[in-house]
Amino acid sequence: MTYDSASMIQDKNKAVLVIGAGGVGSAYIRKAVQYPELFSEIHLASRTYSKCEALKAECGSKIQVHQVDADDTEQVYQLIQKISPHIVVNLALPYQDLSIMDACLKAKVHYLDTANYEPIDEAKFCYQWQWDYQSKFKNSGILALLGSGFDPGVTNVFCRYAEKHLFDEIKTIDILDCNAGDHGHPFATNFNPEINIREVTQKGKFYKNGRWHEIDPLSESTIFDFPEVGPRKAFLIYHEELESLVKHIPGIEQIRFWMTFSDDYLTHLRVLENVGLTSILPLSFQGQDVVPLQFLKECLPDPSSLAKNYTGKTCIGCLIRGLKDGKEKSIFVYNVCDHQSCYQDVQSQAVSFTTAIPALIGTQLILENIWEGSGVFNIEEFDPDPFMNRLPKFGLPWQVKDNVKSNAF
Ligand code: NDP
Repeated sequence: MTYDSASMIQDKNKAVLVIGAGGVGSAYIRKAVQYPELFSEIHLASRTYSKCEALKAECGSKIQVHQVDADDTEQVYQLIQKISPHIVVNLALPYQDLSIMDACLKAKVHYLDTANYEPIDEAKFCYQWQWDYQSKFKNSGILALLGSGFDPGVTNVFCRYAEKHLFDEIKTIDILDCNAGDHGHPFATNFNPEINIREVTQKGKFYKNGRWHEIDPLSESTIFDFPEVGPRKAFLIYHEELESLVKHIPGIEQIRFWMTFSDDYLTHLRVLENVGLTSILPLSFQGQDVVPLQFLKECLPDPSSLAKNYTGKTCIGCLIRGLKDGKEKSIFVYNVCDHQSCYQDVQSQAVSFTTAIPALIGTQLILENIWEGSGVFNIEEFDPDPFMNRLPKFGLPWQVKDNVKSNAF
């Protein structure tokens, strides 16, 4: 590993503002305070101030906390003016991406997120809304790094790394996401329930031979033998990194995304859908408009509360096929993460941890001017090597398995 701690220490005067004190935001803060040399100041702001105060009670003077409604660009801008951070790390929800980007533009500070923009009243995520900010960010001389979580995030970097070092030509990519953990609840989601359920209930979509293909939700599945986990059934779903990787990996013929779900999860989801509780259309209830999915979110466990009793592992990676030196080649580049190890490290479960660490590494690379530029960038547009070098240092070791054979692919 060639992690360069000298470059970290060079750049001392760097403040960060993290927005969102949920599962991912808390894991980010707890990890960041373990490395006091990374930032000159760490600020955390969120909608519910008591969540920020709870983290402040743990971390003491290492962090400063604030209340903000990130839907309101002016509030975010005023906070940025007060703090003067070098970068704003958006770990709130995809709904806030554009309002936070607008505040960053106005204040001329860098921006980073882990999930692409999604309008609250339409279950549709898409990079175009954020790509449309390209010229504004470029002209302002600031950088927006999109999708610096695990998937999107590490998976994109895995693809770029494979393209740079392991292949002459990449033909197909299958991103495989397995959470083989057990949280002990009959039904819970591993990150924000509203965002998670919107994602898995939409139509599946993949790219093949120059065009996009749509399938009914969760209608195609395969069995994949995940390292350290074993064979699991994974379902083809649409995921946001497909959209940017098609654009940035030259010559790609096919790209798909697969996620494992237990039978129990799927049965609960089907029932909730059938009774209308996953709908985002408001209903009138006792004189008030209620969005069923938002109500359902309030009934479900807070994903960060799952951490203490979560056992088992996640395994997420990219099965990549192509040519090297004129020969066909296939690899699986992946990370395995243990829920209990994450809990011991930062009191979070593996899904929050595997999102927070890449966000923390992306922040460092921007603060240290290792990843630099003006404009809006997806993570795979940068050199993958410094990011890959830091993953193990911050708790996400990765491996490459050669000649992966699977009947399913
Ligand atoms: P949580 O729901 O646990 O946390 C979200 C936090 O954002 C909450 O503290 C919430 O406040 C705060 N928030 C929501 N709206 C606002 C607002 N208007 N102003 C200020 N703060 C607000 O979600 P997670 O931590 O699980 O997920 C965070 C992000 O990470 C999401 O965008 C999610 O899609 C993304 N993600 C990305 C992954 C990846 O691999 N790329 C994987 C997993 C998640 P309050 O407490 O008041 O509700």
